[in-house]
Amino acid sequence: MFEGNLSKSIGKLKTANLGFPRMGRQRELKFALEAYWSGKRVEQELMSTAAQLRREHWKLQQVAGLNSIPSNDFSLYDQVLDALVLVGAIPERFGSGPVTLEQYFQMARNSPEQSAMEMTKWFDTNYHYLVPEWSEGISFNIDTRKLLNEVHEARDLGIETRPVLIGPLTLLLLGKGVNGFDPMALLPKLTTAYVQILQVLEAENIEWVQVDEPMLVTDLDANVQSAYRQVYSELKRVPVKLMLTTYFDTIGDNLRTAIELDTAGLHIDVVRAPEQLEETLQALQPEQVLSVGCVEGRNIWLTDFFLATPLLRKAVRQLGADRVIVAPSCSLLHVPHDLRSEAELSPRIKSWLRFAEEKLAEISALASRDEVAYQANAAALADRASAETTTNPNVREALTALRPQDFLRRSPYPQRAIVQRNELQLPLLPTTTIGSFPQTAEVRKHRAAHKHGHETSEQYEAFLKDAIAQCIREQERIGLDVLVHGEFERNDMVEYFAEFLDGFAFTESGWVQSYGSRCVKPPIIYGDVSRPAPMTLKWTSYARSLTSRPLKGMLTGPITVLQWSFVRNDISRQLTAWQIALALRDEVQDLEVAGIRIIQVDEPALREGLPLRCADWPHYLDWAVKAFKLTTSSVEDETQIHTHMCYCEFEDILPSIAALDADVISMESARSRMELLEAFQSHQYPNEIGPGVYDIHSPRVPSAEEMQELLSLALDVLKPAQVWVNPDCGLKTRGWPETVSALENMCKAADRLRNQI
Ligand code: GLN
Ligand code: ZN
Repeated sequence: MFEGNLSKSIGKLKTANLGFPRMGRQRELKFALEAYWSGKRVEQELMSTAAQLRREHWKLQQVAGLNSIPSNDFSLYDQVLDALVLVGAIPERFGSGPVTLEQYFQMARNSPEQSAMEMTKWFDTNYHYLVPEWSEGISFNIDTRKLLNEVHEARDLGIETRPVLIGPLTLLLLGKGVNGFDPMALLPKLTTAYVQILQVLEAENIEWVQVDEPMLVTDLDANVQSAYRQVYSELKRVPVKLMLTTYFDTIGDNLRTAIELDTAGLHIDVVRAPEQLEETLQALQPEQVLSVGCVEGRNIWLTDFFLATPLLRKAVRQLGADRVIVAPSCSLLHVPHDLRSEAELSPRIKSWLRFAEEKLAEISALASRDEVAYQANAAALADRASAETTTNPNVREALTALRPQDFLRRSPYPQRAIVQRNELQLPLLPTTTIGSFPQTAEVRKHRAAHKHGHETSEQYEAFLKDAIAQCIREQERIGLDVLVHGEFERNDMVEYFAEFLDGFAFTESGWVQSYGSRCVKPPIIYGDVSRPAPMTLKWTSYARSLTSRPLKGMLTGPITVLQWSFVRNDISRQLTAWQIALALRDEVQDLEVAGIRIIQVDEPALREGLPLRCADWPHYLDWAVKAFKLTTSSVEDETQIHTHMCYCEFEDILPSIAALDADVISMESARSRMELLEAFQSHQYPNEIGPGVYDIHSPRVPSAEEMQELLSLALDVLKPAQVWVNPDCGLKTRGWPETVSALENMCKAADRLRNQI
């Protein structure tokens, strides 16, 4: 028997799942949704695909032997939108309930008549939810059709489910008050709605309900904590058992509050925050059940049974086996469906991975102390730990050899600025773009043909050369000051780089829902990252040879590569980020040697990497900023480093943005009408800034006057020598005609203002 195994005397533990990916093994839901939206399928066809997927997924969970299987975790678009429909709180501009399928998708997707609800990231994941809009006039008329339908569908298969609800406070706090309205004012009505919903479930003889309250792992003030007590004291009157479910971090200082809610059960994430187990065990009330989230729901690695088992054993010792449930750390929504179809992945790496289906098997094996599974787990862990392919001594050495000066430019910005001005000879208010130019159907067609072997590398490269040459000519004709090559060779800003780097693996079907029907296939970082050969040098140098104007080389930054990949769990994120930074540093050096005088390192995901608890921010920001500096600091003063970020809420991390010490930062700001600049001004941001002067998310061509006006706003708060002129973001999703017109207008606006200064 294995050392870490649960002792036989404990007996088999109960198991639960918290949510299953809904797209389907082959992304059936995506294709059904898109066919429905384009009018190729009718509502009934979409509904039957969805029902079929739910049935398949329930059966999988049943076969895996799970005791508690969720329902209402499915969604046609987003679980937060479903929760709004359930409580009947749809924003007034979309009409009133009961919500039809057409209305449902109107709330989710932009149409010519109506803009959809806003979308934002679900905690620190890459899943996007629709942001509830709270206003005075919202009424709560519960609509339990979907909820009950799923309960009944599962019953038809002989499966009693534990329905999932987003908890009332999490739902409320994830939303925004319209026009300054305080969402907390809705608490009494919202509570009544939840009481009614629980009553409906009780009438259906539902025993347990999973109530997701991930807000409990964030910093909450005393008002919110007391709101929790108030709401749950009402919910307690309905005799159904609630599994208060937290994930993504520690409950920490909300533990007392969480316990006082007196729910029948509590779920904690002991993958992200194992240290909370002890204090939770101490705090639990005598009858409360503990669901131990010990199989990671948001990464793809096999579980270390020999780490999980002692945690389970400790819980059992304290509570008794009947009060312990084995579960994933969070919903499995954030991992791909199954590994079976991965034929091209190296079998060795594959043996270290577990996707949703395989994670169900792990949960069962942990709960039943399956001897064979424990042996297989031990063997796979040992193999992973000893694999030579995961550790690269050169990379490790390079990291230990780093000195403080490797994170610093040679001279401070004011000195560099003088040298750069001399070197680059740019006009005041220099114009540029963020990097990508339209990825037309033709570009995608060639890339796909090359990938599938229908086009030779020579043919594909000839096409790319042509595209770059045309793009350069067009930028010269428009009159831009700093040119780019257009990024036509890039499928994606992370995958493109990952494919050149050692330490990355790729799946064929490792899709994860990002929002609605949109899925992403993150690369897997399995080993130390290094760069065997240059990645962007060839195309950047080629583009440079075509023009006498300064050409900007484009790289994706270390934090963005990290955030948009599945990361290792056997070394720290910081270490991986710094390894990526070292690889990119080599690329920066190669570009510089090749005479590229401006290099942009995009970090749109810098802010996304922020931990959920503010106390953890300084540590993250410190190593994240250093990763950027490690990437960019080796260059001469003459070489100008740019960076780019897309989302505008930067106020709270502005000191860190300044600490990047990029010579120029371009950022999204057109939609907020340059609001962010005030923060830059009040922090006396020292370096140069290109606040986006037009929104690239729509095909609309802004006039020169409009952009001139935005630029004037920028000039009100910044010194003219600080300001660059550029769009909000890359132009890859746009068409050529609107791109050309908009950039022409942009250059016109810059020109006019130059004359006024
Ligand atoms: N250089 C990238 C582009 O232009 C930046 C994309 C991004 O910020 N997300 O497409
Ligand atoms: Zn961007």
